[in-house]
Amino acid sequence: METMSLPNKVVIREVGPRDGLQNEKQLLSTADKIKFIQLLVKTGLKNIEATSFVNPKAVPQMSDAGELWKLLSITSDVNFSALAFNLNGVKRAIQAGVKTVVVNVSASETMNLRHSNKTRKESLREMEEILNFAAKENTITRIDLSMVFGCPIEGKLNIDQISFMVENLLKMGIREITLADSAGLGNPRQVYEICREIRNRYPQGEFGLHIHDTKGLGMPNVLAGIQAGFEIIETSVGGLGGCPFIHNAAGNVATEDVVYMLHEMGLDTGISFPCLLDAGYYISGILGRNLVSRQSEICLGQIKG
Ligand code: MG
Repeated sequence: METMSLPNKVVIREVGPRDGLQNEKQLLSTADKIKFIQLLVKTGLKNIEATSFVNPKAVPQMSDAGELWKLLSITSDVNFSALAFNLNGVKRAIQAGVKTVVVNVSASETMNLRHSNKTRKESLREMEEILNFAAKENTITRIDLSMVFGCPIEGKLNIDQISFMVENLLKMGIREITLADSAGLGNPRQVYEICREIRNRYPQGEFGLHIHDTKGLGMPNVLAGIQAGFEIIETSVGGLGGCPFIHNAAGNVATEDVVYMLHEMGLDTGISFPCLLDAGYYISGILGRNLVSRQSEICLGQIKG
């Protein structure tokens, strides 16, 4: 029988404490966030985006970033990262002790201007400054390239708009770039073709995929990315969060659902599914709302009988 072409292992990077909670209306205490992160570590997750060093007025959920970082028990086997939007945020993150800083830049010129008041070229120049600063501080810089699979203002981007950013970022020494469907507007064919093309054009780069479930295409988009050879997938427990660009949109694709799918398909993630459910139920209780994850809802039904 002909088999599906898949990698042997997929790395799940949990972004619930950052992208998930950042888009939740309810403000959480730092202690609750720490407990949530501890439960995530217990699942076996080795990559967790814990917070973001952004303007606290714009994103009050993340105003405790420095304090939270101090309270994280950093161990060598879990790679915690934090997001920033500019040099100032990167400096704050590094000062707090962050060793992997994720910097967001948009593949869409319009969205980049709206978000940062900079053209993409201006952002690339700032990125060089950031990279130099971070390198001196022995800090890794990873890029979160947003709007790759569609922008709420510009619509679909063509491959050369995406390549322009990837190529320039790799040239300046960035090793890893996450292609993000920040608004959840991509479809599986497009995700497959863009991921494939970027991998073919830039074999020297490492690439991750960040998917939102706005239109219900989160799971097929993840699968399309994996089939295109992407081995790093960003998800949020419980499908936490929403989308800052689209009212009432769903959040990230749920970690439980992706892990369930991968395990069922015989792919290793190193993650304990029951522990993942526990982390989801904990945060669901704190937020006082049901999770969007299909797996956690099904399993909760089984527990309740
Ligand atoms: Mg996102």
